[in-house]
Amino acid sequence: MSQEIITLADRVLQVPPSPTLAINAKAKALKAAGEDILNFSVGEPDFDTPQHVCEAGKQAIDDGHTRYTAVPGIPELREAVCMRFKEDHGWNYTPEEIQVCCGGKHGLYNIFQAMLNPGDEVLIPAPYWVSYPPMVQLAGGVPVTVPLDESMDFDLNPETLAAKATDTTRAIFLNSPSNPSGSILSITALKAVAKMALERGWLIVTDDIYETVTYMDGKLPHILDVEPALKEQTVILNGVSKSFAMTGWRIGYSAGPAHLIKAMNKVQSQSTSNPAAPSQYAALAALTGPQDFPGVMKEAFLPRRDFFVKDLESIEGVTCVNPSGAFYVFPNFSAYYGKSFNGTELKNSADMSAYFLNEAKVASVPGVAFGSDDFVRFSFATSMEVIQEGMARIKKALAALEG
Ligand SMILES: *Cc1c(COP(=O)(O)O)cnc(C)c1O
Repeated sequence: MSQEIITLADRVLQVPPSPTLAINAKAKALKAAGEDILNFSVGEPDFDTPQHVCEAGKQAIDDGHTRYTAVPGIPELREAVCMRFKEDHGWNYTPEEIQVCCGGKHGLYNIFQAMLNPGDEVLIPAPYWVSYPPMVQLAGGVPVTVPLDESMDFDLNPETLAAKATDTTRAIFLNSPSNPSGSILSITALKAVAKMALERGWLIVTDDIYETVTYMDGKLPHILDVEPALKEQTVILNGVSKSFAMTGWRIGYSAGPAHLIKAMNKVQSQSTSNPAAPSQYAALAALTGPQDFPGVMKEAFLPRRDFFVKDLESIEGVTCVNPSGAFYVFPNFSAYYGKSFNGTELKNSADMSAYFLNEAKVASVPGVAFGSDDFVRFSFATSMEVIQEGMARIKKALAALEG
């Protein structure tokens, strides 16, 4: 290979590209090449954006909303976000405490660019969403993982948390329901987090992107309901990508203390300027229109989840926590590590996932991408037929292993 003239930033060299997007791209490429691939690696709903939302996006273009907008987003959309918080949760936010950004991922990116200094530590419960550690690293911070136990349904253990906290801890991620595990944090765990955060002045970053996709009875526990005094040290991250099947529109939003939002607006003003104007009007229609769509998706997801979990648990050696939210199952395949196929040993989740892709033509995401190597993630945002066929192939592939 020839010597490259331009060297790359250390900051970029230390982070991997998003493995979920990479696997999804590989699965799509194999499919395009004629392979019969069943794709469980996708992290988006298998629904189209609701019609009235699409219409609002088209109308915005016809109405001439094709120019720059205010950096934190159009005022109407920030007001609509405040209205949703008030109606859905009883929380009081003003538009100065809201930033609209280019997808939820971008909101998280802005938060850490705005508040981290080199060496600042951020606590990340694992399994975590793939992008959390790189986002912290790209802002000069140090990700510190807090392992969660499958035997505790991936709830946060206050003792493990206390053991990972240091004097340089600045923030902690909460993601409930979680991607990849689908688990929900208990009130007990949230109380422990709240106590430590209040004592030590941590920022709580609560990624609520799956709040509308829960299978539990009653209200989803939330850190701000458990401890309202945390409002000045909490950023809520949400968006329309999952709740309204709008991943391609790229609209997310953050709510937090006004001075932090102002700093995030500075970052946004020097990078993307603002999210796409027509997308903002579409998101406005989503937040102010009928709110039944997430429920419709949930009804479709529920029987798929039930089948998937039951079928996985019927496999010798496999365990799978029943997800209380989101649209992923996260089974433990570690009992099969050490077994071989055609003389090649499967050592970890990357080997397992590659084996499923090559031999079963089933695309999944290895748990190592989420910081938990015993597991593999499958999305059930796909049809029941695909799930049934996929499970049949997975069982056959596992039965073919030796040793
Ligand atoms: C999908 C997702 C997001 C937001 O994704 P965007 O497409 O950037 O809006 C944020 N957090 C988690 C855990 C997700 O799965």
